[in-house]
Amino acid sequence: MKRRLSSFFETGINFFINHTLMVLIIAFTLATIIILWHLERLANKQIESTALDNAQSYSQALAEFRTLYTSEVVAVAQSHGIEVSHDYKTKTGAIPLPATLSMLLGNRLGGKQSGVKSRLYSKYPFPWREISGGLNDNFAQTAWKTLQQSPQQSYYRFEDVDGRAALRYATADVMRPGCISCHNAHPDSPKHNWRVGEVRGVLEVIIPIETHMLLTNSMLRQSFILISSILMFCLICITLALRKLRLRNHEANTYAAAIAETNKKLEAEIATRKQAETELRRLSLIDPLTELSNRRYFDEVFKQEWKRAVRHQQNLAVIMIDIDYFKLYNDHYGHQAGDQCIRLVAKALNVLTVRETDTIARYGGEEFVVILPGTDKTGALKVAEAMREGVENLHIHHEFALTGDRVTISAGIASALPLVSMSHVDLLREADQALYQAKQAGRNCVKARNGSVVMLGAGKPKPTR
Ligand code: GH3
Ligand code: MG
Ligand code: MG
Repeated sequence: MKRRLSSFFETGINFFINHTLMVLIIAFTLATIIILWHLERLANKQIESTALDNAQSYSQALAEFRTLYTSEVVAVAQSHGIEVSHDYKTKTGAIPLPATLSMLLGNRLGGKQSGVKSRLYSKYPFPWREISGGLNDNFAQTAWKTLQQSPQQSYYRFEDVDGRAALRYATADVMRPGCISCHNAHPDSPKHNWRVGEVRGVLEVIIPIETHMLLTNSMLRQSFILISSILMFCLICITLALRKLRLRNHEANTYAAAIAETNKKLEAEIATRKQAETELRRLSLIDPLTELSNRRYFDEVFKQEWKRAVRHQQNLAVIMIDIDYFKLYNDHYGHQAGDQCIRLVAKALNVLTVRETDTIARYGGEEFVVILPGTDKTGALKVAEAMREGVENLHIHHEFALTGDRVTISAGIASALPLVSMSHVDLLREADQALYQAKQAGRNCVKARNGSVVMLGAGKPKPTR
């Protein structure tokens, strides 16, 4: 459920990011419509409430006037024998009835107060008011009935009057003590059993609200146009800003992708170069004929091993090996056979270079060199002798060798416990001289320089073994 909810939110957020402008327009439009609808309702309520207040004041004023006129004018006039009649204009010395004068006042006020009208009607109108003073429509009938039941209340409705929206506000016109005798005694009265407090008629005030509503609607329309314009302006700004941001983001992404791509290419190139370098280095340190290490590699390793031997005060031995009578071999069997012979000898020597720390290299031509760290003269002699034997046992036919009928090697050994003041070149020279001795001694043998002790550096202290 949680996952579904979060995926729903994620979809929503993605939709918002992808359709920001559309979502904002919809949201703003909805918000504007809701706000304006709400404002319109508030304004209408306000108009209705104001209209109700006005109607109340208006009908109160009319009722008050009527009461005052009845008590202060009509009563006094009657006591002086003055006739009170609806027909007062045609009768000499007559004054108008309270209802007649009230209607007159109402119409006068209404004429000045933006179309407000007042009406007085009853179920029992006098004959001369039968047409205008009766219950002529549904409102009048309902108001009559309602006010009969609760004369203290008012009854009102908002409805169209003469095609214009208006408030119809009705209050009960109650039979007063000052009026009852006249109404019951009047020969034209349609009812003669009136009681005091009985509802004898309805006073209706009609307040038009159409103008206010039109005004309010026009104001709201103006507000809508203003708000929409502001929102549109804001949306355009937001759109432009978003477009710019997206463009920048896109550019940044493209730039980052280009950098990543370049980096990838560079890394691949570096890797290829490193590989090529390693291969080159390997090739530069390997002898192509025998696939043993070459002279350059030997020089590097020999220097390092010499330093290590000095540091740890360990023996270091070196063997120089040379194939005997190889020129004769080459001359008689050819250069290619010579190469093959060198390869076979190299392989045999390599097999006998057992220790991991030992290094064998082709020194040049038909010469090889072996470095034996941590090895003294005795150990080196053993290794060299094993190599000599190993080559002899290859049985490479060499009928021109003066030592026999096969290919042999001679080896010279030098071994030392090196001091800082000595040089590795000295040790190699010693081995070379030992090789020379082996050649002198008739070849196919191993010699150590000066017998058992290798002396290095003139005037330098001799290492003891
Ligand atoms: P010694 O017993 O005194 O060593 O006599 P040697 O003939 O072996 O010595 P020398 O130095 O006179 O001859 C070495 C010969 O080795 C010279 C050359 O023809 C041959 N040689 C050197 N390098 C190569 C190579 O890479 N391939 C072949 N086939 N022959 C080589
Ligand atoms: Mg040689
Ligand atoms: Mg030789």
